[in-house]
Amino acid sequence: MDAIQVTLPDGKIQEVPAGTTPADIARNISPRLADAALVARITQPNDGAGELIDLRQPLNHSVKLQILTEKDSDSLFVFRHSAAHLLAAAVMELYPNVKLGIGPPIDTGFFYEFLREEPFTLDDLAKIEKKMHELASQDLPNERKLMPKAEAIELYKETDQIFKCELVEEKAVDPMVSFYTTGKFIDFCRGPHIPSTKRIKAFKLMSVAGAYWKGQEGNPQLQRIYAACFFNQKDLDEYLHRLEEAKRRDHRKLGAELDLFSIEEQAGPGLIFWHAKGGLIRTIVEDWLRVELFKRGYDIVYTPHIMLRELWNTSGHTGFYKDNMFGPVEVEKAEYQLKPMNCPGHILIYKSRMRSYRDLPVRYAELGTVYRYERSGVLHGLMRVRGFTQDDAHIFCMPSQIETEVEACVDFAFAVMKNFGFDKYEVELSDWDAVHPENYAGKPEDWHRATAALADTMTRMKIPFKKIAGEAAFYGPKIDVKLIDAIGRSWQLTTVQFDFNLPARFGLQYVGEDGSRHQPLMVHRALLGSVERFFGILVEHYAGAFPLWLAPVQVEVCPVSEKVIDYAKHVTETLKRHNTRVHLDERNEKLPAKIRDAQMQKIPYMLVVGAKEADAGTVSVRHRSKGDLGPKPLAEFLATLQQEIESRATS
Ligand SMILES: [Zn+2]
Ligand SMILES: [Zn+2]
Repeated sequence: MDAIQVTLPDGKIQEVPAGTTPADIARNISPRLADAALVARITQPNDGAGELIDLRQPLNHSVKLQILTEKDSDSLFVFRHSAAHLLAAAVMELYPNVKLGIGPPIDTGFFYEFLREEPFTLDDLAKIEKKMHELASQDLPNERKLMPKAEAIELYKETDQIFKCELVEEKAVDPMVSFYTTGKFIDFCRGPHIPSTKRIKAFKLMSVAGAYWKGQEGNPQLQRIYAACFFNQKDLDEYLHRLEEAKRRDHRKLGAELDLFSIEEQAGPGLIFWHAKGGLIRTIVEDWLRVELFKRGYDIVYTPHIMLRELWNTSGHTGFYKDNMFGPVEVEKAEYQLKPMNCPGHILIYKSRMRSYRDLPVRYAELGTVYRYERSGVLHGLMRVRGFTQDDAHIFCMPSQIETEVEACVDFAFAVMKNFGFDKYEVELSDWDAVHPENYAGKPEDWHRATAALADTMTRMKIPFKKIAGEAAFYGPKIDVKLIDAIGRSWQLTTVQFDFNLPARFGLQYVGEDGSRHQPLMVHRALLGSVERFFGILVEHYAGAFPLWLAPVQVEVCPVSEKVIDYAKHVTETLKRHNTRVHLDERNEKLPAKIRDAQMQKIPYMLVVGAKEADAGTVSVRHRSKGDLGPKPLAEFLATLQQEIESRATS
């Protein structure tokens, strides 16, 4: 037999007979590696990313080989795909008449689809989970087989697996079709898979959801069983804990409990009603922002909510953005459009007079309310809505000013995160697909200059970022800042987006130093993104326990009895006079009930006042998370309170 050369990641070369498997090589290296191995990656010369293959697949040519274990994140998808097969195998044992759909790995686990008349119940899921564990412990091999296409179709016809039949007919391009078996389950599947079932232990069947075959309405409806799945129990437990936490922090639930906002059926879906307490927090956020805007050289402008549709033809929105807009409104035979974006409004202000290079950069900011048609299925609390307010701004500048402007935007974005208590983030730079410049507006040199400006700025500011080619919108490159919240979820926040399209469409100009006319560069930027969404993120990040400076009620005064009401009122009035948001609980309730309710409302401080406090001029201080802090003179409490508010402490 011919010998082949297998190059390992450390550069060492093993000369082995053709037909040797990655499993053999792993064994040659060490028994530990052989035991931990899940899948292999082979790379041929000029084949960048390589290909994942089974450990049992014979190697017939010289290749570069990498043995993947749990340490390689790429193997997790393979692991989950094998777990999906295990689920199908268990279901086939328990309910032999089900028809199989597809079963891919997903971000946190996998799903598999089944056609079955009766719905899967929670009891069924428990039974299936048990069967999966049973099969897993039998250490069933995941075996790959090749079969002629005609034979494969015949096999599925015999067993009446109509969907699988359809898949083989559509997808199999080679005359030989690859199959994997796990016990009695056989699947038309490209693989690869982990060698056997024994390692699949850390999973949990989470839910069942209806899904049309191939996602197309009108097709038969299958039941999708979703599962969470990880390499080990610790990762699974952490994930389940995060889910619980997310549920506890859900802004829709807290929004109602804390009386922050609502969505009213009578008004329509996706439209937010800010209640007094939510409105108060919003005002604080917006006031902070306005002060910063002026400090950083922005002009604040206001533009109409509805404008002639013709304007949106000029901007191009009626073309590329049509599906996201509300329909036109007719008034006196003219068509108007509810604005989905603020950009054309700001452009009209820019165009209202001739600009000179001395006027630039022009920075227009607006807390601009926009309306977008989001499908009812995707609406979600404050996060996906139909009407929202962007903290939008548009910067018109000269090419020589790009770097300074980008840096100022990024600096502003970080000031926002710091101010509101976020310290973890990810930054992404979306670039064009350089192979297809014809798909983009703007000249190649504009793209190069803008992308370089974005990247250089990040490097200069020592901000790590990920560059993603081909992710940019057709009109320009952008930077996205995603913040990571208290439970590790990432949220898209700031966008700094170049635009090579609108300045050309609107014929924007400025008179340069040379006396001739030039086209300015335009940058769209939003820091919070949408005020609604940002508020939703704040609610979830803090689980409703807002930092003192943002808390709608900062102090709750809890008199022990009716007898000390005068002193309680004195305390309340004193705090109010010093600009504290304070509330007096005058209800005829026992003290523990008052404290419990204030605690439920996540009010930072509770002041208990009784006869002793009234005599001494003190208050007994209780903090929502630190508990009882003991009696303090009122003046002293007030001083520390004001200090904490001013410092904008986030705990
Ligand atoms: Zn498969
Ligand atoms: Zn814009």
